[in-house]
Amino acid sequence: MRLSLLFVLTLLAVGVSARQPTSIIFFVGDGMAPAYTSAYRYFVDDPATPEAETTIFDELLVGMARTYPDDNTLVTDSAASATALASGVKTFNGAIGVDTQRQPLTSILEQARMRGYRTGVVATSTINHATPASFIAHINSRQDYDEIADQYIDSLINGKPKVDVLFGGGRKYFVRDDRNIAQEFEAAGYQYITELEALQDVKQLPALGLFADDGMTSALNSEHPLRLAVMTEKALALLHRKPFFLLVEASQIDWCGHANDIACAMAEMHDAAATLKVLRDYVKNNPNTILVATADHGTGGLSIGADNQYDWKPQIIKNIKATAPRIAERLLANSTAWQQEWQQLTAITLTEAEVQEFQQQLTSASANPDKTKDNLTELTLRIINVRSHTGWTTKGHTGDDVQVFSYGKRSKDFVGNLNNTDLTKKLLRYLPRK
Ligand code: MG
Ligand code: ZN
Repeated sequence: MRLSLLFVLTLLAVGVSARQPTSIIFFVGDGMAPAYTSAYRYFVDDPATPEAETTIFDELLVGMARTYPDDNTLVTDSAASATALASGVKTFNGAIGVDTQRQPLTSILEQARMRGYRTGVVATSTINHATPASFIAHINSRQDYDEIADQYIDSLINGKPKVDVLFGGGRKYFVRDDRNIAQEFEAAGYQYITELEALQDVKQLPALGLFADDGMTSALNSEHPLRLAVMTEKALALLHRKPFFLLVEASQIDWCGHANDIACAMAEMHDAAATLKVLRDYVKNNPNTILVATADHGTGGLSIGADNQYDWKPQIIKNIKATAPRIAERLLANSTAWQQEWQQLTAITLTEAEVQEFQQQLTSASANPDKTKDNLTELTLRIINVRSHTGWTTKGHTGDDVQVFSYGKRSKDFVGNLNNTDLTKKLLRYLPRK
């Protein structure tokens, strides 16, 4: 008798959960062109085995997406592509959540919120940067950072802020002379934290975590190289049990691409891979959830192999312990023993000519330290790229198609070559009718 009651209760529970709306997780690797996931595969490969082991990116790959904006340039910026991903409508470069007529577009996060979903946004850039902003705010220019932050607290759905959990950088835009938005969030019931260590003290929604004044520390320079994975795990734990929409952005792959810094990029890719594993495992345990991951565009024109060399040397990159600007700073700070510093940070043996180049820069450092730092950064990048046979074609974005990754029982919906707007249009169909 007791057993059959348990059986009926189980059936009821299964029935209820089957009728629950689908939760949606949208992951964006900013700037993550296909070359980045290939490079990452060789970067993490175990050299002791003959084959190159596959990665989480290989496991989840389902298709490709076209990223061109709606202004005939073919190469998008992160605002136009994020708006396309957020709302399913292509727009002009620089636009945050508005169309070519400057009219607001309702994002999938807002659509979910209108249906009573819990919502979350996690990023390693400032939380009001173009990609996350396009899901929350509506403004003609991505540069209006204060105004974007204002909208996070001022623009309400059902009388409340749109996002239940916000984790990322950007404190300087929220705690300002003219306005303290962090305090306003606290007044609205949000728990506000500023250290990653404090994540464990957050027990319930809503929550605001601003872990840096500007963007968070680059993964390669950070004491918390897997900070995106850590924030994502916490956001999932908070959102869990009710239908939710979660945006996760690996923001800084793009910044490393703009800098043409391959060691920086691989560290960000490692955090992105760890985050995707967290998300994959969540969907595995919570089948009424769909995960879609993509990039908004490529950055830097990264190539595996350069200068007619049929080779790529990930071991060179694995030995690099800091981003190029950080290496330059350390050389400047220790200019008398710079060669030991260089050796410790890069393990690259310099030629006599290269030693002279560094020496020349460091001798003239006192005249213009900022210029010297830039020159040392460029020199460092040139040596790392040449030694590892890493190629770059631009310091900007590229218009090559990006990959689409998905996991969950509906992942087949995203197979093939799609427009970036199709991803959102398909995801919108999983939301219940209003
Ligand atoms: Mg971005
Ligand atoms: Zn960019």
